[in-house]
Amino acid sequence: MSEIPGVVVTGVSGRMGQMLVREIAASDALRLVGAVERAGHDWAGRDVGAAMGGADLGVKVEDDPLGAFARAQAVIDFTAPEATLHFAELAAQARAVHVIGTTGFTDDQIAALEPASRHSVQVRAGNMSLGVNLLKALTRQVAAALGPDWDIEVVEAHHNRKVDAPSGTALMLGEAAAEGRGVSLADVADRGRDGMTGARRRGDIGFAAIRGGDIVGEHDVIFAGPGERIVLRHAASDRALFARGALRAALWGQDKAPGQYDMTDVLGL
Ligand code: NAD
Repeated sequence: MSEIPGVVVTGVSGRMGQMLVREIAASDALRLVGAVERAGHDWAGRDVGAAMGGADLGVKVEDDPLGAFARAQAVIDFTAPEATLHFAELAAQARAVHVIGTTGFTDDQIAALEPASRHSVQVRAGNMSLGVNLLKALTRQVAAALGPDWDIEVVEAHHNRKVDAPSGTALMLGEAAAEGRGVSLADVADRGRDGMTGARRRGDIGFAAIRGGDIVGEHDVIFAGPGERIVLRHAASDRALFARGALRAALWGQDKAPGQYDMTDVLGL
C-alpha cells in the first residue's frame, strides 16, 4: 500500500474538477483514486483521463460515490451545495478529509455541514488562493482602522457561466470587513441594488457582481471616504491556483483532528 494519500475528485467533468485531476496527476504528494460525477452522467464508466481528451489515468468515472469514497483519504469537492451536503456525510463515514470549494450555500446549508465535521476534517473556503486569503486579512485590518464614514463596497467579476452571486469570495471579504467593524454582515449587507433605492445607508457593506466572458475571478474591496478612496484588489488569472490550494488543504488535513477549518488555518495566516 502506498503512503501517498488517495484523493477522490467529485464533479470531475466540471471546470474545477478537470483542473484538479490535472494537478493531482502532476503531484508526487497525492494520487487520484476516484472520480465522481452526477448519476447518469455520460462520463460514467469511462477512464477520466480519456474523458478529458488525454491519456488514460487508470481511474474510471463513477456516478455512485460510495465505492470511491471508501478508498479515499481525501475528497476534493467543487460541485453544488446539495451535492456537497451529501458528500459531507459520506466523507465522514469514510473518515476522509473533505475539502469543500463549493460556494452558494445558504446559512441553513452551512449549519447542516457541521455534524459531519465531528467525524472528519472539513476544510471549506469560498476561495482557496493564498492571495485572496491575504486580502481577507487586509480587509479586516483596514475596516477596523477606518470608521463608518468610509463606505465599503465589494465588487466582483466572474465568467458568464457562474450561477451564484455575489461570489463566495465576495461574501467572505464582506464578512471580514464586517468583523473588522465589529458588526454582523447580515445586518449591513446591501445586495443587488436596482431602481429607486434611496441614498446609501451609513455603515452598509455593498456588493456588486459583473458577469462576462472567461473572467476567472476578480475582487475589489473599495473603501470610499470623504475626499479619498482605497482599493484592495485581487485578480486570479489561472484557475489552477484554486486547485493547488485545494491539494494543499487535502494534504494539510491528513493529521488534523476532526473539525471545521478554512484556508486561513491551512496557510497559517
Ligand atoms: P462546473 O459547473 O463547471 O462544475 C460543477 C460540476 O459538479 C459539474 O461537472 C456537475 O456535473 C458536478 N456535480 C453537480 N452535482 C453533482 C453531484 N450530485 N454529484 C457529482 N457531481 C456533481 O463549476 P465550476 O466552475 O467547476 O465550480 C464548481 C463550484 O466551485 C462552484 O460552486 C464554484 O463557485 C466553486 N469554485 C470555488 C473556488 C474556490 O477557490 N473555493 C474556485 C472556483 C470555483
